[in-house]
Amino acid sequence: MIQTDYNTPNGQNPGAAVDYELFLQCIHCGLCTSTCPTFTELGDENDGPRGRIQLMRLVADGRCGLTDRMRRHLELCLDCRACETACPSGVQYGRLIEPFRLAMQEADKRTEKRFDWFRELILFQLFPYADRMRRLLAPVRFSQRLGLYDAAERLGLLDLVPSRLGRMIGLLPPPVKSGPKLPRFLPAVGRKRARVAFFVGCVADAMFRHTHWATARVLQQNGCDIFIPEEQGCCGAIHFHAGDSRGARKMADANLVAFELDRYDAIVVNHAGCAAMMKEYGLHWKDGLQPHREKFAAKVKDVHELLDTLGLVPPSGRIDQIATYHDACHLGHAQSITEAPRRLLAKIPGLKLVDLPETEICCGSAGTYNLNEAEMSDRLARRKLENILSTGARIVLAANAGCLLQIQREVRRGGHPLLVMHPMDLLDLSYRGEQP
Ligand code: SF4
Ligand code: SF4
Repeated sequence: MIQTDYNTPNGQNPGAAVDYELFLQCIHCGLCTSTCPTFTELGDENDGPRGRIQLMRLVADGRCGLTDRMRRHLELCLDCRACETACPSGVQYGRLIEPFRLAMQEADKRTEKRFDWFRELILFQLFPYADRMRRLLAPVRFSQRLGLYDAAERLGLLDLVPSRLGRMIGLLPPPVKSGPKLPRFLPAVGRKRARVAFFVGCVADAMFRHTHWATARVLQQNGCDIFIPEEQGCCGAIHFHAGDSRGARKMADANLVAFELDRYDAIVVNHAGCAAMMKEYGLHWKDGLQPHREKFAAKVKDVHELLDTLGLVPPSGRIDQIATYHDACHLGHAQSITEAPRRLLAKIPGLKLVDLPETEICCGSAGTYNLNEAEMSDRLARRKLENILSTGARIVLAANAGCLLQIQREVRRGGHPLLVMHPMDLLDLSYRGEQP
């Protein structure tokens, strides 16, 4: 392989970060292109998976330098991995784009003169810490309760805030009763069937603690003893997807210490982005801890996956509603889990689950993509909402914090009377005989 003309800011070839053999799995058939959200929106081959693989390979081969236009095509990728699901040749697209972009971003960091306050302070110092987030959100929550927030949104005042911060505030859902911090242990109800550790994460714990409680109650109803280690922290996905591999590794390794693997049958995760990251701990870093990370990753289970394997204890409360289910990319594509959530939801008496057109197409959230790539993110959010409205459903279900925030915001903007929930929220209501 010849490597000649590189033009990342420090002259390094980001293609060198990719395992070259993985490029060779692509046979250029193009079967992935129609499933790619950015190709579907823009119709440009370079904004589809086949084109992006070709661009990365050109750079890796040294046949071409990395131009600004090429960078844009690569940056616009959501890393949703719909192309992996569609690919008949088993291309692991995430293992191409992720190290390539990390290398691009690492190079930027070394040469960038400007301090990116949003990345360094908000993404890295706020998002990964649930307690800090909760404290900082308190005044926003207060203004939401007073109705000031809605007024600011209606008057367009959020547009005056620096764009990424304004978009972040705009994503905040109305406050709900979230309950106290989960305790260190919750016992199974009835016959014991599994001992599990529960991963609560960061953004998920700050914004969806009510869903954590719902998930814990569903697990208890299904015979799980639940351990919730206090020392656990963010899964590392925020750092990883924002180009800080070292920061992500530190987060991952702190979790290796926090969870005593041999005590549990599984580490259960209820938000797809975190589970996808944790299932790949063994892939990202090649050092002495890799075997431990692989062992950890093998224990990680998405909550639907676990309950489906255990065999769900059927809930008995009727919920006579029409609902539709959106496949979160990091559940459907990154973890290949599509049927388990549907099988669980089908056990709710009275619930009519209708298919969502283009369910496999990303809603535009994609980690922090919705903060950084406003235009494409909004296009995809509108597309998702149109598809949801076409189903006639009153409840939209999604198993990922980012998707829930993104879809909720779009529903709010349009003033639609739709409930946006996690499948565990709905199952919990059915177990408790309550209505959404
Ligand atoms: S990861 Fe998603 S956005 Fe990126 S190329 Fe694949 S399908 Fe397209
Ligand atoms: S990634 Fe897979 S589906 Fe897409 S062009 Fe390559 S081989 Fe075909």
